[in-house]
Amino acid sequence: MIENPLLDLAGLPRYGLIRPEHVAPAIDELLAQNRTLIAKLISPSVQPSWDEFAEPMENANERLTRAWGAVAHLHAVDDNAAMRGAYNANLPKVTRYYTELAQNLDLYGKFKALRASEEFARLSGARRKIVDNSLRDYRLGGAELAAEKKRRFAEIQEELAALEAKFSENLLDATNAFSETVVDRTDLLGVPEDVLRAAEDAAHRDGRKGWKLTLHAPSYGPVMQYAENRTLRERLYRAHVTRASEFGKPDLDNSSVIDRELRLRREKARLLGYRTFAQVSMVPKMADSPEAVLAFLEDLARRALPYARRDYAELSEFASRELGVPKLEAWDIAFASEKLRARRYSFSDQEVKQYFPEHKVLQGMFRLVETLYGVRIVPDAAETWHPDVKVFRITDPRGALIGRLFLDPYSRETKRGGAWMDEAITRQRTKGSLLAPVAHLVCNFPAPVGGRPSLLTHDEVMTLFHEFGHGLHHLLSQVDDLGVSGIRGVEWDAIELPSQFMENFCWEWDVLTGMTAHAESAAPLPRALFDKMLAAKNFQSGMQTVRQIEFALVDMHLHHDYDPEGAKTPLEVLKEIRSRVAVVVTPEYNRFLNNFSHVFSGAYAAGYYSYKWAEVLSADAYSLFEENGVFDERTGARFRDEVLAVGGSRPAIESFTAFRGRGPTIDALLRHNGMIA
Ligand SMILES: [Zn+2]
Repeated sequence: MIENPLLDLAGLPRYGLIRPEHVAPAIDELLAQNRTLIAKLISPSVQPSWDEFAEPMENANERLTRAWGAVAHLHAVDDNAAMRGAYNANLPKVTRYYTELAQNLDLYGKFKALRASEEFARLSGARRKIVDNSLRDYRLGGAELAAEKKRRFAEIQEELAALEAKFSENLLDATNAFSETVVDRTDLLGVPEDVLRAAEDAAHRDGRKGWKLTLHAPSYGPVMQYAENRTLRERLYRAHVTRASEFGKPDLDNSSVIDRELRLRREKARLLGYRTFAQVSMVPKMADSPEAVLAFLEDLARRALPYARRDYAELSEFASRELGVPKLEAWDIAFASEKLRARRYSFSDQEVKQYFPEHKVLQGMFRLVETLYGVRIVPDAAETWHPDVKVFRITDPRGALIGRLFLDPYSRETKRGGAWMDEAITRQRTKGSLLAPVAHLVCNFPAPVGGRPSLLTHDEVMTLFHEFGHGLHHLLSQVDDLGVSGIRGVEWDAIELPSQFMENFCWEWDVLTGMTAHAESAAPLPRALFDKMLAAKNFQSGMQTVRQIEFALVDMHLHHDYDPEGAKTPLEVLKEIRSRVAVVVTPEYNRFLNNFSHVFSGAYAAGYYSYKWAEVLSADAYSLFEENGVFDERTGARFRDEVLAVGGSRPAIESFTAFRGRGPTIDALLRHNGMIA
């Protein structure tokens, strides 16, 4: 009998039994087992074959992934002091293990030997991909470098990690350094009641009267959007866009952090034999080269600009005619846009959400997926971490299990914000048995109150579809090996294809009629209201598109053709890009780069374009359903087989082309955004 539920990996996770005191013993045990196994695997007596080397390695890491995944999951959805303590105490051990793994040259040598062996050609495509991905990651981690260069590479990695952390710390400290307490309520005219209440509470906590405004999103956003007081908006705007810059405290200025990061990233790229950091960033991605990404962004900019200019002209005209704002400034944009939106499309989120009770939405989403992918989704029972969690079984039409879904829909104090999909168990076929995948879908929807069901806004419905898209990618996998099953091994710039794809169905009349029922009358969504929602869908899509392009372009240029030793500053690069693709006039003091965390705190460096890139793929994939019918089973089966089922076992472009019958084009994205040539 296994006493520690985190080590019981035979069936579903033991959420009913896992306690904080189980974490350290389980993780210590698994790390020790893995280290012992690795010592054995790298010995010369072990053949560098799939069965003797690669698979035992995969299985060992999977045990750790599953146990640690359960801990991380509970930390995110059922946070309490004891679990947080256990998580934080064990995180460094787990991180250290993975660093060791990446730097273990004996393991790298074994993978190289497997790659060079006769056996390699006989492996399945999925297994070859797993071996190649491992080799690539070792190489990009500096494994091939000579001793001297390797030392420098490690120094750079360490300094970059520290700088990326420093960047977000500076930004947070600078955000917290500003507040303004308003004492006259008339200065806050227009700001919604709930925002005012929170601001009043915040002032009270400081022992003051009035309303405390800050630069954090729940305060800053609504003030910029709703406050009638123009000078108040201007003050907050200035504070917001100069955070962590030379206009604030010198020790919080991110300018030198940006400069240093750009130099180090280029040096790292050159050690690896590339000319620029953007080239390194492209290696594991779908896009071929920085040039291809730049050409894509420039093309999209050229097509979107006329619409962006039209959006801006309409907004300027409206602001001067209706709001008495003769010249639109950056701090007027959100405010004037909200007023124009309300004027033009007279409906509210509140009105729409009455038609989307949670159970009806789920039912409609499941029916759609059942039709498209030939599966059945039925309620199931399992141990969970909270009574609100719902469990579903996905089966084939004959009832054979495909996978399970845990849905945790409602917001709680103990749950992290946002919405996400997580892998709990990944599909794997081992000798004689098949492990069915399990996905977690976590959302933050309002919980039911007073016997009334949870009602979802249309945005929340799209969030649910989006995350279920990731979930289906994971659950409908037909790959038998762990490393490239589901979302694993899928290129970063293609990972949002299945999720954004699902969002499209939320704009289909035929889909919505089957998933709406008014909370009181049970009537489906009226066509007239749907038409208003559709009309509002592309409100200012031109302006929003060029803004995203501006961010993606500056990220790409700074990591590709910008010279840190040259005369130009990053800010000048940004200004040049703005002069070509922006429609909103930015004040001279704007220091956007100093708070561009996506890129300077890590993950999205030379990768910000991925959002738009994946949107092209998802829109174009969806357009085949528009051609063949949104409920077309044959198109659905093809999407399941060519995109969802194959996961990361082949390049995303091959999967896309196999499904669509041709390479991706940008037309569907433009059409969905209301930009038809
Ligand atoms: Zn997503």
